[in-house]
Amino acid sequence: MIKITRRTTEKSQKAIDSLQKARERHQSYNTPEVNAALREMFYGKCYLCENKQITLYQIEHLIPHRGNAELKYDWNNLFLACGHCNNTKLDKYEPIIDCTQENVEEKIAFQKKGYFGSDEELAFDMLDFEAATQNTVKLLQEVYYGSTPQKKMEATILRRLLRKELAEFKEYVREYQEAEKEEKEDFRCLIKQCLQDSSPFAAFKRWLIRDHKETYPELYAYIST
Ligand SMILES: [Zn+2]
Repeated sequence: MIKITRRTTEKSQKAIDSLQKARERHQSYNTPEVNAALREMFYGKCYLCENKQITLYQIEHLIPHRGNAELKYDWNNLFLACGHCNNTKLDKYEPIIDCTQENVEEKIAFQKKGYFGSDEELAFDMLDFEAATQNTVKLLQEVYYGSTPQKKMEATILRRLLRKELAEFKEYVREYQEAEKEEKEDFRCLIKQCLQDSSPFAAFKRWLIRDHKETYPELYAYIST
């Protein structure tokens, strides 16, 4: 989970217009314009788990609307989520961090500890003790580990994707460290891409660099600005 800027773009304007019309006509907020704008804004990633290989996209209300039209059709309350996360959050976690307002990485440290089997563990360390941070950590725990038999299976797949992405990223850093001049530049470009907002599981990759900023100050520079 990372901070995402809710920019005003052509697509977001169209989404806001379509929401207003849908509200007036008592139609669904799930319009093609809303979907297009959310996809652009969240880079096709689920805002909670940061997975990009999604087969079931859903529109999530940050504050559960419970029938309240104001919340239901409010563009600022709509987020792009995968089915797994949307069905995990439901209306059980409130409030959680609004990632379009706050820098999530200043509130939670995303870490993968250990390397093999049972020794591997994802950790979401709280950096403040606000209710929203506490709820978000509980939600992320449930997202990445599951609570029902089906959700546990989905969470296993999610962790596998995360593990592969992180392994690849670590390999780039290792190669970068060992590479000669020109090659070094190639790996630096790859690493920079992996640290961008659009990259899957960016919070984990950035925290890996943050935790090694003394070793890689030049890579840390990509995320500290
Ligand atoms: Zn998700």
